[in-house]
Amino acid sequence: MRHVVFVEFLAQLKELTPEQKKRLVRHLMGRELAPVPRAMVPLVAPTGCPHCGTTDDRLGSWGQSHGLKRYRCRDCGRTFNALTGTALAHLRKREQWTRYAELLIEGASLREAARRCQIDKNTAFRWRHRFLSDAAGHQAEHEDGIVEADETFFLESFKGQRHLPRPARHRGGVAGKRGFSAEQIPVLVVRDRSGQTADFKLEKLDAAHVIAALRPLVDQEAILCSDSAGVYAAFARATGITHRPLNIQHGPRVIDGVFHIQNVNTYDSRLNGWIRRFHGVATKYLENYLGWRRMLERYKTTITPKLCLAEAVGLSINS
Ligand SMILES: [Zn+2]
Repeated sequence: MRHVVFVEFLAQLKELTPEQKKRLVRHLMGRELAPVPRAMVPLVAPTGCPHCGTTDDRLGSWGQSHGLKRYRCRDCGRTFNALTGTALAHLRKREQWTRYAELLIEGASLREAARRCQIDKNTAFRWRHRFLSDAAGHQAEHEDGIVEADETFFLESFKGQRHLPRPARHRGGVAGKRGFSAEQIPVLVVRDRSGQTADFKLEKLDAAHVIAALRPLVDQEAILCSDSAGVYAAFARATGITHRPLNIQHGPRVIDGVFHIQNVNTYDSRLNGWIRRFHGVATKYLENYLGWRRMLERYKTTITPKLCLAEAVGLSINS
């Protein structure tokens, strides 16, 4: 366009209506902005006051705030909304939560999540762990029938911490020693044949810690399958629960056609394969990643952003 014509063109912009101006901006940005969906946070009416714990008959409506219905407690006089007391309370940009939940399902990197939700990387990181903190605690509380247990290890990582207790390793890293080195964090994974799954980041892989994790979980009538490590034999002795140890190195992989640990082993491989994308996860957040993977496995193909948001506000749907 010739310069004179361009100057005339600019002068004409004054005549645009506000709506036309918006359309022009969208056009210049090269795309029609998709309408942003409102976050579909599944919210239920409060069953009591999150501040003082009084019952719901003492609560009254108190208008709206930030697009959420507000309540006021007649006993303590404080106000709240359905997000108060949940992990998502006080997080901003609620219109991006649904998209963020989609990215959790995809297992997107922080960089990718930040870009697609138009938030910065620190926010993407904070959201990740807020969204996952409740899911991290949502796991099987009772397993019965044939119960498979196995350990898997994650490299200890101080990723993101400012002061390292020891010299840094390259990202992802390789442990100084293989196996039971102090740099490997043991995680006990337990899965029964109905798919009920629980995992435990153990301070130490010894009988005391294994017994403490398994005792409240495994049904007294269950049959525990594991490798031949002494910790499981110790658990069986302490509880009287039937135990079928498998000698993974030398013995058959399956005893009597049904006793094996192949389900828990394949779970471990899926977990390890999936977690590799994060190039090493900070040990202090390891349980959030374990819970994230468990959530994906729990709902499999039926997972939706709405379910993720339900998990994030503690409305876990047991399956
Ligand atoms: Zn109250």
